[in-house]
Amino acid sequence: MLIGLFGGTFDPVHYGHVNAATAVKQFFSLDEVRMVMNSQPAHKASQSTPIKYRWEMLCLACAATQGLVADDTELRRGGRSFTFDTLQDLRQQNPDTVLCWIVGEDAFATLPTWYRWREILSYCNFIVLNRPGQTAQWTAEMAALRDAHECNQLDVSRSGQIVKLKLPMLEMSSTDIRRRLVNGEPVQGLISPDVADYIRDNGLYDKHSTPQEALA
Ligand code: ATP
Repeated sequence: MLIGLFGGTFDPVHYGHVNAATAVKQFFSLDEVRMVMNSQPAHKASQSTPIKYRWEMLCLACAATQGLVADDTELRRGGRSFTFDTLQDLRQQNPDTVLCWIVGEDAFATLPTWYRWREILSYCNFIVLNRPGQTAQWTAEMAALRDAHECNQLDVSRSGQIVKLKLPMLEMSSTDIRRRLVNGEPVQGLISPDVADYIRDNGLYDKHSTPQEALA
């Protein structure tokens, strides 16, 4: 088995996430890509939409896309979500599986700020994607790590590789989608119709209403 893991806050999930996950799945003929939603993002300062809503939107997006599976490993663990802990959990659940953590290069460049980041590479391979519209800030340390571990091809029998892929990516972000929704601007082509309906029905990202769970 070869499993892709695509971590995110998914606030909300958008076509950029789905396109990235499916493109890597096809490129490496992965068995599946698990969309690992964080409970409390370890790296984001601002407050996220309550878990229930982010999770239900992610489930809608995954149900509509073959081979993508919504993964609640970080929700079940609770607290701040650390990739190191997640990889340990997933390694235990899938002892004979090579895990590939799929990440945009903007997020990957922040690796030295991740909990126990030096050990993470022993649990997985990193598949690093270009991310149009975002600039990655490479420190000298990260550039050295990238150069030391970077491979042109994925050896599916081992972990510890960093494979940089240049596949067609979509220029979009959850930040921009939230801003559009708050301003009443169209989001067609950025999120699926199911997710758009869900957002409307639950009054999410609306300056005039607050989701019930956020009030609790
Ligand atoms: P926000 O704007 O709130 O920071 P985001 O759009 O970056 O959200 P996240 O859920 O934080 O989405 O991203 C999770 C992962 O998806 C990260 O690895 C990020 O680099 C990657 N990603 C997000 N959008 C894209 C995209 N359009 N193309 C490729 N990768 C993406």
